[in-house]
Amino acid sequence: MNPFDYERASDARGAVAAVAARPDAQFLGGGTNLVDHMKLGVAQPGMLVDVTRLPFDSVEARPEGGVRVGGMMRNSELAADPLIREWYPVLAQALLAGASGQLRNLATTGGNLLQRTRCPYFQDLTTPCNKREPGSGCSALHGWNRDHAVLGGSSECVAVHPSDLAVALTALDAVVRLQSPGHDRGLPVHSLYKLPEDDPSHDTVLEHGELITAVDLPEASPHTRSAYRKVRDRASFAFALSSVAAVVEVADGVVQSARIALGGVATVPWRASRAEEVLRGAPATEETFRAAADAELEAAEPLRHNEFKVALTRNTIVAVLRDLAAAEEGSG
Ligand SMILES: Cc1cc2nc3c(=O)[nH]c(=O)nc-3n(C[C@H](O)[C@H](O)[C@H](O)COP(=O)(O)OP(=O)(O)OC[C@H]3O[C@@H](n4cnc5c(N)ncnc54)[C@H](O)[C@@H]3O)c2cc1C
Ligand code: SF4
Repeated sequence: MNPFDYERASDARGAVAAVAARPDAQFLGGGTNLVDHMKLGVAQPGMLVDVTRLPFDSVEARPEGGVRVGGMMRNSELAADPLIREWYPVLAQALLAGASGQLRNLATTGGNLLQRTRCPYFQDLTTPCNKREPGSGCSALHGWNRDHAVLGGSSECVAVHPSDLAVALTALDAVVRLQSPGHDRGLPVHSLYKLPEDDPSHDTVLEHGELITAVDLPEASPHTRSAYRKVRDRASFAFALSSVAAVVEVADGVVQSARIALGGVATVPWRASRAEEVLRGAPATEETFRAAADAELEAAEPLRHNEFKVALTRNTIVAVLRDLAAAEEGSG
């Protein structure tokens, strides 16, 4: 590991000023991703600004409706929060499907959203990787690509985004609150991430020095139901091969509204807008659910080793929608 400076921030203004002042500075959350990358030589920050003691570590009901989740809140605490469990089960389920108990005790909201891909070539300095070293090539495109993307890829990069939390937040229409020396802003989670196109080196649209202070969740309707299902090689401690987050309202056998996001299959947390269009106003039947999944996956471009992800995702979307519709029926 290279030597680096370390500073523990006591206020947000000081933290963003410290990172903005040095191009080689980075925020440090729980360190479960960044420190690994420093050990591997994938990241070489000259300075770490530790933001874990900043006072953004709780869930608060907002007067205008919805809740604000602190950017430094630990994943395990967020998953256990009563407001989240009652009103946003998709979020609690996604968090509990991620990593392990020990990792979730350290990992923060902001750090989880900004964790980098688990593509093995990205982590292996001996292999070409456009994300790590722009212009060097993509080893996965014609290499081992079982875990890679079938949606949103380009000839430059086909790595999947690894965060379960980001998939749930995308389906919830959450907004990330950002602070920087120049201005504060809010950004819908689905606009935070960048498709790789011809430059996969930047995963997000964030500017250097922008700090995630919070994530706002819109008010949850008592009529919607939500769920997260993750399919993976092992029951825990494994990233998604495919995952589905769904927030759905069904009344009188008709889908009133549907927000769906996919994980493990795309270069960004993938909003399944085509599926949503098919679902809206349609009868809540198996046939509709299949048509919705097919509409979304029509655009899939599987690679040599991951064609199985298309059928897996189709079946997972249908299963999640079927379960949510059945739960609604059972409650009526
Ligand atoms: C073995 C293993 C299995 C895992 N399995 C899963 C899984 O199944 N699902 C899943 O979703 N994740 C999984 N993870 C990843 C884990 O969830 C992430 O490492 C963790 O969420 C990152 O959070 P952190 O606070 O530790 O971030 P850090 O490592 O501290 O930071 C990550 C990045 O975010 C930046 N950053 C941190 N906080 C902020 C902030 N507030 N504002 C702006 N930038 C910030 C840092 O500069 C860095 O670039 C796994 C990790 C391991 C090691
Ligand atoms: S898929 Fe992306 S991260 Fe993986 S080797 Fe190719 S460029 Fe690098």
